Amino acid sequence: MAQSATCVVRSSTAVGGSAGGMGIAQRACMSRLRLPLLALLVAACASPSPSVSTLQEAAAQGEARFGVPAALTLAVAWTETRWQMPEGDHDAHAHMPAQVGVGGLRPWIAPVDALAADLGVSPETLEEDPALSLLATAALLRRLADARGVDSLEPGDWHEVLADYAGLEGEDVRESYASDVFAWMRRGVSATGPGGDEVLLRSSEVALPDGVSAVRAYSHAEYPGARWVAAHSSNYSNRTASIDRIIIHTTQGSYAGAISWFQNPSANVSAHYVIRSSDGAITQMVHERDKGWHVGNWNSRSIGIEHEGYVADPGRWYTDAMYRSSAALVRHLCGKYGIPMDRAHIVGHSEAPGATHTDPGSGWNWSRFMDLVRGVPEAPPFAASAGAQDAPAEMVSGERAVAWVEYRNDGSREWSLDRTRLGTSSPQDHASPFFDVENWINDHRATPPDHSGYGHGDVGRFTFMITAPEVGEETVVTDTFRLVQEGTTWFGDEVTLSVRVRPSTPPEPPTPADEDGDGSPADADCDDGDPSRYPGAMDVCGDGIDSDCDGVDPVCMEPPATEPPRFEPPGEPVDVERPTELHGSCSVGAGSGHPTFLLSFALVGLALMRRRTQQGP
Ligand SMILES: [Zn+2]
Repeated sequence: MAQSATCVVRSSTAVGGSAGGMGIAQRACMSRLRLPLLALLVAACASPSPSVSTLQEAAAQGEARFGVPAALTLAVAWTETRWQMPEGDHDAHAHMPAQVGVGGLRPWIAPVDALAADLGVSPETLEEDPALSLLATAALLRRLADARGVDSLEPGDWHEVLADYAGLEGEDVRESYASDVFAWMRRGVSATGPGGDEVLLRSSEVALPDGVSAVRAYSHAEYPGARWVAAHSSNYSNRTASIDRIIIHTTQGSYAGAISWFQNPSANVSAHYVIRSSDGAITQMVHERDKGWHVGNWNSRSIGIEHEGYVADPGRWYTDAMYRSSAALVRHLCGKYGIPMDRAHIVGHSEAPGATHTDPGSGWNWSRFMDLVRGVPEAPPFAASAGAQDAPAEMVSGERAVAWVEYRNDGSREWSLDRTRLGTSSPQDHASPFFDVENWINDHRATPPDHSGYGHGDVGRFTFMITAPEVGEETVVTDTFRLVQEGTTWFGDEVTLSVRVRPSTPPEPPTPADEDGDGSPADADCDDGDPSRYPGAMDVCGDGIDSDCDGVDPVCMEPPATEPPRFEPPGEPVDVERPTELHGSCSVGAGSGHPTFLLSFALVGLALMRRRTQQGP
């Protein structure tokens, strides 16, 4: 494997011949070379500092330059690192050397210096540049393919090359690695690369050569369903104590990387079991009767379980499948060795005495894991119980105020800012009377939770603004809410918000002018310059002043000395329309004599008769 992938080196060394003759990269490169321009183009082809900035570009260039299917390169990188750069700070876990680049290159298999030289870049550049490191993966795959004479763009033909790349010994584990890479190709992946670039591994079928199965059953492991791949015998020793602890680790590298490392005689570390992130597949590498080297002082009393992934990136690695698979294994071991299923006996590497490692880290969901170990019935994905709530007791129409409700997450799934909502209920999705147009998502979705990441047992608060509706009179306005996981389900208790709303008072009309200060505004006062004249004032008769503003000054009348004489008309009594009292009129002096009185009476009678005549037929 002394070959190099660059044209310039190949041009000078290919004479000696390699296992597979001239490789695809050579031919791809050569096909672009026209003999008269050979010297010039050799230089161009060997040009260092290939310019790639994204993983997608790097994979495409790997296909164009080295004849390695771009999808295969991306799938290997996803399998190894989930398209992230392995952590530079490797103190978290020193069970294996850091893998390099997004392809998870193993320095103990292929020295970084040699790969960097192939690409014409410095080892430091290769270790720090994600796209270049992926190109190095393609270059290494090319070298390994040449060694096996693989000359094909059909990914299925690369299954042995993949196992070589992973550095695995043993047929089962070799095929297991290839099957994981191919499974990702079938499934497809869309995710972001280390630079925030969008990377797409398009879902595609992978045809395997005859006689190669995707998964091969295995039987030698102690745990049913696990594959057996022996760690190198220099990496473990005889157990000298009985088993009463189980240690949970994170590989800080890939599944196949860990297996490869424990097979390496210079590793001086091992664990009994290694679990894969994608599907929870388990590989056993040390017999339980033997002492794995994974946790220092506690090695002799414990069984070590390695989990594929990185402490700093639990979201991409600690999958549901891995939790379930690991918990089932732990449950099995607890039963087999009589180990109590509690956190004193099932511990993280970081919790072991004298541990300097941080695995499995705060991203490991212990409560969920222990529930799975103990076989506790699982909570439904979405469930909640209502707790405290707050809103003003009274508001005025149009007024805005802050309200909140709290729910405890009784479900197994975390609430998210983009999918979990407080919505109107009974009936679902009705327009709320408290709708606040500036603050709500819409008239039937008040708010998401205040924060992301409310998990099982957490109390999450939902804070939102409310606007008091218009009311004609003081009214208790209520509305009902529940939680909804958009597109999935409504859940949790219904909560009721109740606010006494008063109508807003109409604006006071401007106080009208009242110059004389008599209490009557100018437009109602007949003289706004005289405080003695206003409607309702006492009007003295005969003074020539209309004090009460009724348009006249009343005429004065003498107070009567005696009761006026009652008048009985002669002969027939007049009918009902006869005025019964005529006294008191100001215009007729109370003290006038009979003749005047008779005259008035005659005039009234005449007027009445005329009216009757006019009303007749
Ligand atoms: Zn560890």
